[in-house]
Amino acid sequence: QTAATPAQGSAPETILRETFGYQAFRGQQQAVVEHVAGGGDALVLMPTGGGKSLCYQIPALARRGCAIVISPLIALMHDQVQALRQNGVAAAGLDSGQDEATARGVLAALHAGELDLLYLSPERLFAPGMLDRLEGLELALFAIDEAHCVSQWGHDFRPEYGRLAVLAERFPSVPRIALTATADEPTREEIRERLRLESARMFVSSFDRPNIRYRVGAADGSSGPPRERLLRFIREEHPGEAGIVYCLSRRKVDETAEWLAARGVTALPYHAGLPAATRAEHQRRFLREDGVVMVATIAFGMGIDKPDVRFVAHLSLPKSLEGYYQETGRAGRDGLPADAWMLYGLQDVVTLRQMLQDSDAGEERQRIEQQKLEAMLGFSELTTCRRQALLAWFGETLPEPCGYCDNCQDPPATWDATVAAQKLLSCIYRTGERFGAGHVIAVLRGSRSERLTRLGHDRLSTFGIGTELDERQWRGMVRQLLARGLLRLDPEGYGGLRLDPACRGVLRGEEALHLRHEAVAGGRPAPASRR
Ligand code: ADP
Ligand code: ZN
Repeated sequence: QTAATPAQGSAPETILRETFGYQAFRGQQQAVVEHVAGGGDALVLMPTGGGKSLCYQIPALARRGCAIVISPLIALMHDQVQALRQNGVAAAGLDSGQDEATARGVLAALHAGELDLLYLSPERLFAPGMLDRLEGLELALFAIDEAHCVSQWGHDFRPEYGRLAVLAERFPSVPRIALTATADEPTREEIRERLRLESARMFVSSFDRPNIRYRVGAADGSSGPPRERLLRFIREEHPGEAGIVYCLSRRKVDETAEWLAARGVTALPYHAGLPAATRAEHQRRFLREDGVVMVATIAFGMGIDKPDVRFVAHLSLPKSLEGYYQETGRAGRDGLPADAWMLYGLQDVVTLRQMLQDSDAGEERQRIEQQKLEAMLGFSELTTCRRQALLAWFGETLPEPCGYCDNCQDPPATWDATVAAQKLLSCIYRTGERFGAGHVIAVLRGSRSERLTRLGHDRLSTFGIGTELDERQWRGMVRQLLARGLLRLDPEGYGGLRLDPACRGVLRGEEALHLRHEAVAGGRPAPASRR
């Protein structure tokens, strides 16, 4: 077979310098490249921006034959092919959106041995005849990008990814390298199993993003409505800078984008309900223009390589810590300071629980998603270093608090909330563990209403015993107790509060409970810039 590019067959360092123009490998790149160039299988876990592409592109050139790269995102695929070509590498892509003539041309080049790398969408790989075709060729390797798409529990799940195990069977002598920025243990295991990479070497990079400052505040806090606080945050800390604002629903995306735009922020909406042309146009403007704020659902972001995103704001709770990490990870890819800023309220937890209940997910999946949501909630209600907790979730130990997140810079005041928590817990018990926070708090605060009287809840022993805290403070306590697993939301998804057996110690006064002071913490994320 003819070498497509002069680089083919060279040593990895030479390819790095001469083809890509870089002086040195970063982090784990060299180890991965040598392992795969030598014919080994690999699972590479590296954060976004860590430099995953070179991990397969260099072995692709160092080895004989064409490398096949499976990539789930057409836009990303085109960017990569273009960048490779600019470096003089013979790369091409095949996706289901191309016309026949283009596809024929690419296939002819493939058969003529003129390609170093061929990017394929999973649909193309499994199109009739493609695997047979590949079997007749000399292949350098298979690279499976965004390998977490194989995970049935993740929101990027792609059914075709589940079929990739066939590569192990049909091409036993071709090395396979799977790459992802999603690194939690369950996903890792699922990738190994479903891609038949049990004996592949695993390369795990640090997931710390030291230039990102994590900040979380309560939406039911005292410093005004969430979007007002978002606007203040953008104006005071990131005027004219690029950022992403994530919202839970399409409606919220549209409203927020419009509201921000009316106040002078260059804000554009992005969600799956918009026409494809509008989405493409908004994405293009976000990438090309300066200072565009993209207001989006999580449909936006995978594969977006914009180095100077200065902030990622969440106006509601993400579904999981992996999601939070991925989304916030889009900030500060250039290594300069960036903010991960979030506001969330009790209502988000109730809504997410409800969405989970209404989804057609099976019982096991619901249980896993529920645990992920609880971990996310736990993170949000932390009073200790957020970076330590986030990295711990990915199995990494940060020996010291980071000194940079909100909790490190402005340690939350705590108070002995044992007695107040007892009041809340007994009030939930007395009202039959059926009601949401609003009603329980009304009973505690002795607020009479027609409904409350009709239910006879004004005659309960817990009626009016909680006037020392206001509504906002009680809501904060409910969130914190949910985060600590002392309370649960009803499984039906109506937002009803139930006691967890774990609350017994507190209820009986055997355990003291120290909670974050809502009055102090309500205004977070702190408005003062500490950059
Ligand atoms: P990922 O796919 O992990 O998100 P990329 O492969 O897109 O990351 O790389 C992120 C950025 O880092 C790219 O702009 C890439 O050119 C650059 N990069 C990767 N490896 C190196 C290196 N060894 N030296 C310098 N720049 C690098
Ligand atoms: Zn910290």
